[in-house]
Amino acid sequence: MKPLADSRAVTISTNLDKALPEILIDKDRIRQTLINLVHNAIKFNNTGGKIMVSSIFKVDSVTVKVADTGMGISKDDLPHIFERFYKADKARSRGGSGLGLAIAKHTVQAHNGAISAKSEEGQGTTISFSLPISPASNRVVGKINKTLTKS
Ligand code: ADP
Repeated sequence: MKPLADSRAVTISTNLDKALPEILIDKDRIRQTLINLVHNAIKFNNTGGKIMVSSIFKVDSVTVKVADTGMGISKDDLPHIFERFYKADKARSRGGSGLGLAIAKHTVQAHNGAISAKSEEGQGTTISFSLPISPASNRVVGKINKTLTKS
């Protein structure tokens, strides 16, 4: 993402929790989700804008946030952005299919997580998703470890 961000003088910073637990995820899909969110944060940002990617460990989940200082999303559009093919009118000139956030939602929900958006028009947008550290995940990890030790 850096070359794209650089071409628009957008700065990407991170604030990552140092003590993150291991959780069971489909790494490729979660990576793709993060790429989608950062891509949007660049695409809908202003020249010279900022992006902050943070991760926070909260007792039973890990939350990842991508916050930007871009154009924001209107109150009318905000409830619809996770729908397939939805694009705010203002976003039509900026390319994309309107599928990215629908796929992101699907991926996060398949991990029993949740995704949400906060936005102020003209101020910026924050998309957050949480992935649970569920007992079920731990059981699965336990099972995999057991199988590995046996073989
Ligand atoms: P696409 O980026 O291909 O248009 P997405 O599903 O990723 O589709 O996003 C849907 C719509 O949500 C976008 O068209 C845009 O209107 C809005 N949106 C998503 N992320 C942001 C953001 N960071 N800032 C402003 N608007 C956004």
